[in-house]
Amino acid sequence: MHDILPEQTALWQWLEAEMALQFAAYDFREIRIPLVEQAEVYTRAIGEATDVVEKEMYAFEDRNGDLLCLRPEGTAGVVRAVLQHGLLQVPGLKVWYQGPMFRHERPQRGRQRQFHQFGAEVFGIDSASADAELIAMGQRIWRKLGLDAGLRLEINSLGDRDDRQRYRQALIDYLKPHRERLDEDSCRRLDTNPLRIFDSKVPQTREIMLEAPRLSDFLGEQAREHFAEVTGMLDRLGVAYQLNPGLVRGLDYYNRTVFEWITDDLGAQGTVCAGGRYDGLVSMFGGKPTPGIGFAMGIERLLDLLAALGVERSQTPAVFIVSQLDAGRTLEMAEALRDSLPGIGVSMALSGGSMKSQFKRADRSGARFAVILGESEVAAGQVAVKSLRADDVEQTRVAMDELPGWLARHGLEA
Ligand code: ATP
Ligand code: MG
Repeated sequence: MHDILPEQTALWQWLEAEMALQFAAYDFREIRIPLVEQAEVYTRAIGEATDVVEKEMYAFEDRNGDLLCLRPEGTAGVVRAVLQHGLLQVPGLKVWYQGPMFRHERPQRGRQRQFHQFGAEVFGIDSASADAELIAMGQRIWRKLGLDAGLRLEINSLGDRDDRQRYRQALIDYLKPHRERLDEDSCRRLDTNPLRIFDSKVPQTREIMLEAPRLSDFLGEQAREHFAEVTGMLDRLGVAYQLNPGLVRGLDYYNRTVFEWITDDLGAQGTVCAGGRYDGLVSMFGGKPTPGIGFAMGIERLLDLLAALGVERSQTPAVFIVSQLDAGRTLEMAEALRDSLPGIGVSMALSGGSMKSQFKRADRSGARFAVILGESEVAAGQVAVKSLRADDVEQTRVAMDELPGWLARHGLEA
């Protein structure tokens, strides 16, 4: 679990603000749900035989003996919340969330035990437009962030539940004779969750899977039509994608459309955003059958990509006060400056010191301008302003009440 330090948070805040705008552009509203839930919310939704539940969840008994967990993802918690608050009465609910998720994985590049996601969910719409719009929103986000060139979209259809049941059996029948040659994990999955054997990274297993029956040959008429509509809409919207029949996703609740945006620039952990339909999830929680679809993106992986492109953000004060006045007067002047410059960062050397040492602090702060408070200037209702950058703005005297205007003319904006 990582600390996010002051020098890093400006980039996080910038990304969070950008994402909020993009979600709003598609009329998603933010939902904030607890980090802690009844463990059952997640075990039931994600599936007992998945990596997340089997190996990764932080679950614990609280003082009442209730079994709780730190949320390993957002979707199940969101479903619990929207049902509990009756938000599914009107079809077409769109919500987004952000925040920390927790999984006890082996820490490595691109995998933390506390990581962060942005997620979006749409409820009550079974038509293909919901799938296509959600994917188009993802595409727009990448474009907006300048990441589109480095990401590819892979999609697949998992069919409906019955399709998957028939396929599961066919897969087991195919794999049984190869059992001895499968790796240990995959061998175990053969009994619990055979579709996930497609996720195996073991070469011999992958080789066996190349010949395995394809889920796409088992799709029922309706799932097939739905998928054709989705890809047709993506074509119209100019969203490029690759069909990946081996894309199965790690959580049990998915059906029909599933998709991932993947990069080759982050090593082994290349999936930046993943999602799909989960039409059975709401009824699994006891709600009236309500289709759903959503995605989640890993914020650390996104930031990694942005950093590789050289995207940087920092927070620096705009103005640094260098003062010959006593500490009380200086504070008073700083407050007055903040009153007249709302939204502009004003800093000062709180511990005082010589003019020289104050100027050093001013330089190090990254401020754009120093505002110099000298006894004689202030007595005359004036201050001196000096650019702290190597540009051609000369040090000048400005009347105190003209300072905001002067700063604005020299490029300072709230
Ligand atoms: P993986 O195959 O990488 O384990 P997953 O299927 O477990 O992925 P999801 O549950 O779909 O991942 O989560 C969506 C996104 O959240 C991932 O694509 C990734 O960007 C991010 N993510 C998941 N787990 C982690 C983690 N431990 N650390 C950092 N980011 C993560
Ligand atoms: Mg995982």
